[in-house]
Amino acid sequence: MRVDVLTLFPGMFAGPMNESMMWKAQDRGLLDLQIHDIRDYTQDKHRKVDDTPYGGGGGMIMRVDVVVRAVEALASAGTPVILMSPQGRLLSHAVAKELAGHEHLILLCGHYEGIDDRVRQLVVTDEISIGDYVLTGGELAAMVVIDAAVRHIPGVLGAEGGADTDSHADGVLEGPHYTRPVAFRGLEVPTILQEGDHTKIEGWRRQEGLRRTWQDRPDLLFDARLTDDEKYLLGQFADEDSASGKASISTK
Ligand code: SAM
Repeated sequence: MRVDVLTLFPGMFAGPMNESMMWKAQDRGLLDLQIHDIRDYTQDKHRKVDDTPYGGGGGMIMRVDVVVRAVEALASAGTPVILMSPQGRLLSHAVAKELAGHEHLILLCGHYEGIDDRVRQLVVTDEISIGDYVLTGGELAAMVVIDAAVRHIPGVLGAEGGADTDSHADGVLEGPHYTRPVAFRGLEVPTILQEGDHTKIEGWRRQEGLRRTWQDRPDLLFDARLTDDEKYLLGQFADEDSASGKASISTK
């Protein structure tokens, strides 16, 4: 997958995108990541990328002529042009997986008070938010989007695990993990994980994932695809909660 990022601060990407899995994805030829300085698309001697807002108000606005020139230099027909924006659709497992299915993406990072709205009207095809809060710029958001999407490209995670068994893949959280030592400060690794019966381990992991979802993110259970056995387990968790006096939700 090729990802072109348009930013006023290209230096921000060097560390996070050149370490760990993002570096491996590039090293294995699975990710072609190109970071472009929007200033390179200015045509005046001061390389001016922003200006004051029409109608007054604080902050600077990124200029439509410069940003559109930058996008048009990189986009071909059908390339998604994604504006990082707190007003966009929320990033999720499903959105990350959908993005990983594209051969080419252009990510546009806003800064200051934002981007002239005509950029959105003329060249942006999608807007993504990484959460309901405001960052100072789109660079961190773009890196989050790239990381979340790229780990879905086959071959990126290698033997280290499949993105399809992680939390949120099928609507619930993943169960707990353990490694050596087997006992630490009075806490032992659950016996079932030490015994090596993989069918039982799979069942236990699913059960503990459901328990964790029930306890920490019960909102997810409204949309999760659950088997009858799993729904029965939730009923047991509810019974345990009411026996211990805790309030619980209904997922029926
Ligand atoms: N004035 C804008 C508003 O209220 O919607 C916020 C501008 S913000 C300070 C500057 C840039 O950061 C945005 O143009 C966007 O690219 C990026 N940004 C901020 N919060 C974000 C979020 N939650 N998700 C994605 N990008 C975000």
